[in-house]
Amino acid sequence: MKTEQVLELFKKSGAMLEGHFLLSSGRHSDRYFQCALLLAHPKLADELARSLAAKLPQNIDLVIGPAMGAVTWSYEVGRALGLRAFFTERAGAGKEAPMELRRGFKIEPGERVLVVEDVLTTGGSAREVLEVIKKLGGVPVAVASIVNRSGQKNPFEQDGLPYVALAEVKVESWDASGCPLCASKTAGPAIKPGSRPGAAQPA
Ligand code: ZN
Repeated sequence: MKTEQVLELFKKSGAMLEGHFLLSSGRHSDRYFQCALLLAHPKLADELARSLAAKLPQNIDLVIGPAMGAVTWSYEVGRALGLRAFFTERAGAGKEAPMELRRGFKIEPGERVLVVEDVLTTGGSAREVLEVIKKLGGVPVAVASIVNRSGQKNPFEQDGLPYVALAEVKVESWDASGCPLCASKTAGPAIKPGSRPGAAQPA
């Protein structure tokens, strides 16, 4: 599947939002990919996961994605690969709480793990998952996402890992202090689409 086809699916499912958004990385943007709205369609999710699976290395034992965003996506990729799919969670409230593998999910020593994200912005959450895997004796072998909006071809090059994305997009984002939407009188405050009830509509 090509970037254009993936973006078409986002548009069709109303999952590409325009407005003034606070990303989980803390940066502000005028576009937001609400993957949950796309993955709400099991047929589309299945199609995306199979397309990704075809591009992945063959040496994977297990799939892990960070909650909440990548819970469904991890499951779909695991299903496409015929492998177990886990998710990590924060040990407490707030972004500062450490990421953990809970619910009895166990990595066997030496298991080769694929980390999946829905939208990759800075790669911060994925990198936290990599640390969890290493701490538990697993071996990260690759990172993959639906959308790559990091602006880099492979943000995990320094980790020595291959990175696969279904769609490469260039979307601007800014620190709050440099955000032109914050500076404008008309845009209204930045919203966090993920935590807002009924946020399917652009703000
Ligand atoms: Zn802003």
